[in-house]
Amino acid sequence: MSKPLERPRHKNPILRTRLPTLPPGGRSRFALGLTAAAACGRLELQFCRDCGAVQYPAREACHCCLSDRFAWRPVDGAGELLADTRIHISQELFFRERAPWRMGLVRLDCGATVVAHLHEDCPAAPARVRVVAGLDRAGQAVLAALPGEGETAMSDDPLLRELTCDPRFRKVLVTDGKTAVGQAIINRLVESGADIIWVGYSEPWKKFPGFDRLKAIPQVKLMPLDVTDSVAVRELAAEIGFRTDILINTAEFHRAHGIAERAGVEVARAEMDVNYFGLLRLAQEFGPVMRSRGADGTNGAVAWVNLLSIFALSNYPPHGTFSASKAAALSLAQCLRAEMPPAGIRVINLFPGPIDDEWNQLILPPKLAPAALATSVVNALRDGIEDVYPGDVAQDWFQRWRDNPKALERELAAHQF
Ligand SMILES: [Zn+2]
Repeated sequence: MSKPLERPRHKNPILRTRLPTLPPGGRSRFALGLTAAAACGRLELQFCRDCGAVQYPAREACHCCLSDRFAWRPVDGAGELLADTRIHISQELFFRERAPWRMGLVRLDCGATVVAHLHEDCPAAPARVRVVAGLDRAGQAVLAALPGEGETAMSDDPLLRELTCDPRFRKVLVTDGKTAVGQAIINRLVESGADIIWVGYSEPWKKFPGFDRLKAIPQVKLMPLDVTDSVAVRELAAEIGFRTDILINTAEFHRAHGIAERAGVEVARAEMDVNYFGLLRLAQEFGPVMRSRGADGTNGAVAWVNLLSIFALSNYPPHGTFSASKAAALSLAQCLRAEMPPAGIRVINLFPGPIDDEWNQLILPPKLAPAALATSVVNALRDGIEDVYPGDVAQDWFQRWRDNPKALERELAAHQF
């Protein structure tokens, strides 16, 4: 049976930090469709557009009619465990370090038969299970089978825990605790059992709303931090970087205007300085030290979370310069994501729609409550999701952007939100 997640033992400082090993990361271009869906927390399989046959693994030509026209469609992961085994020997370093490893063959109700990692709570075959798609430490999709009924946490299984970044017992840095979003995320991290939450706040000479409440929370440690100050970021990284398991960058500068409504570049520059250069400064100072701790298992660095915006995908003209700064941050986050996986650290990007705060007051509802955004951050960490579109507006906008980016650009130009 699985054992619930336990508080990790202190790392022995005499022992050398292990070098990270990763599961094999090579996939064909066709198989990346599975990864793209798993990054959003969905299980999708390849279907033939001509005869409807489901394909697994992904192929270049349909196994029934040889058509090369495919579509990726979400499927229900329910299925029957046909056979299970425990692998003790592997040629791969990653699996050798973690053997034995439980695997099974599952026939999904949609027709495909897949190989999946088996949660320890799954009974022996034959049994009903449900298959979910997750991302492994190399950032590639893998399938995991959980017991068919009831809530099962992936993090309760020591091997499937590798697919998640549960904040429980972890040390987390939230870069800006002054905002409503920052404070909502801190509350959820406290509820989720985070060990230490370092909370950055700029302009430490003045108190901000909620300062005293945060100061009274035992797990919270308030740290002066201004992400526009390279020296301050470097000093904080030197102080806590080697212990930071999860970094959540909530620092954001947001003003509502496009190009014509405001003269000069000062406000746009301030947006870039926080939203883009702030991320760059954090990545340069915290990135290397977190990468060096990517293999320490329960004592290791696991995740980096960026608060982006759905405006990063397509410019929303009433918030035009803010959208541009978030688009720049998205591009940089993709670079960070490419550099982090060699250490097994997951970069999670959040794309919320308009948040219910003072800078979006002229946007009509529905708007995303900071508490709902905070819940989606913790869920993404627990489920190992990489791209998060919290709330109805973000989901709708993302869908429209995927269907036809040009049509969305036109709609937004006419301010049809
Ligand atoms: Zn076909």
